[in-house]
Amino acid sequence: MALDLATLPTMDVAGRVPRLREALADAGCDGLLVTNLTNVRYLTGFTGSAALLLVTPDELVFVTDGRYRDQAALELGAGGVPAAIAVGRTSDEQRDHLQRPAKALRTIGLEAEDVTWAQQQRFADDWFPHADLVATGGVVEQLRQVKDAGEVARLEAACGIADDALATVRHRLTEGPTESEFALELEWEMRRAGAEAPSFDTIVASGPNGARPHHRAGTRRIEEGDLVVIDFGALVDGYHSDMTRTVMVGEPSATQARMYEVVQASQAAGVAAVRAGVTVKDVDEACRAVIREAGWEDLFIHGTGHGVGLDIHEAPRVSFSADATLADGHVVTVEPGVYLAEHGGVRIEDTVVVTPEGSRTLTRAPKGRDA
Ligand code: ZN
Ligand code: ZN
Repeated sequence: MALDLATLPTMDVAGRVPRLREALADAGCDGLLVTNLTNVRYLTGFTGSAALLLVTPDELVFVTDGRYRDQAALELGAGGVPAAIAVGRTSDEQRDHLQRPAKALRTIGLEAEDVTWAQQQRFADDWFPHADLVATGGVVEQLRQVKDAGEVARLEAACGIADDALATVRHRLTEGPTESEFALELEWEMRRAGAEAPSFDTIVASGPNGARPHHRAGTRRIEEGDLVVIDFGALVDGYHSDMTRTVMVGEPSATQARMYEVVQASQAAGVAAVRAGVTVKDVDEACRAVIREAGWEDLFIHGTGHGVGLDIHEAPRVSFSADATLADGHVVTVEPGVYLAEHGGVRIEDTVVVTPEGSRTLTRAPKGRDA
């Protein structure tokens, strides 16, 4: 039966802007102009494609265009977000709606990763000439790292849909489909179960293609002797799932069997290392140590994982080159892999919720090697 969103616990959308206000002083601004649409969605529940949100210490002004007048009222109302909603048909009208509340601000933060050079010049010269504009980075993204119960329930539902889809179509791997055909079957099953979409372009990488970590599904036919890396997910109410399983079609060579064994042990060590208070470097090292021990450190050519939520890749990054400490409510992936041109690739990925004692795994498809 298809997923019914109404059965999931609600999210605390209205609690997010107050938390953002507490973070503004550290970001060096009195107010923040939120232009990143994923961040707007997080703070207000708005799912449309055009919006600006001005957060000041005591006002919240949401500006969109005429297409979204009714939808904005409905979606912000559903989350109990106390914003003044203004509709501007042109860029000048939108500016006019923001200039009055912006007057009280000496410094206005912009989202530096999102605003273009041209926009920044327009904001500085035309929209907010009285204020100092401050480049901020990751202010809302920091808040987004910690998921509430409603968000975890959506991620869990998305992961469950992906688990079920793989269980339904996995046996088809032995019937000689092309990578694209198998990807389509997975996506079809996910949509049928209530996913809005796949959460990214499904990766089905068979045989030699498996040695490229982000190969997409192509025209190659899956055959005996292939390791098949399947990396995919479902989108539920804006939340992404992310899981990789590697399946052996036919009998593995000694090297393929060893690759599988090493990656499975590495991935288990990584998941076991996850808990609140641990650094992302420590989780990465737990995975990497097992692969190093096997003599294949050079073949693990990417970081261990990433946060997952409204974006498929979000903070915190789980890597030897990142600095972050895991906290209760973070949701991250653990996905080591080994890639050998002549033998293919093996990657295993789970999405887990960080808890004080360890973690809870949301992706539960079996990790057995055989098709
Ligand atoms: Zn993935
Ligand atoms: Zn991933």
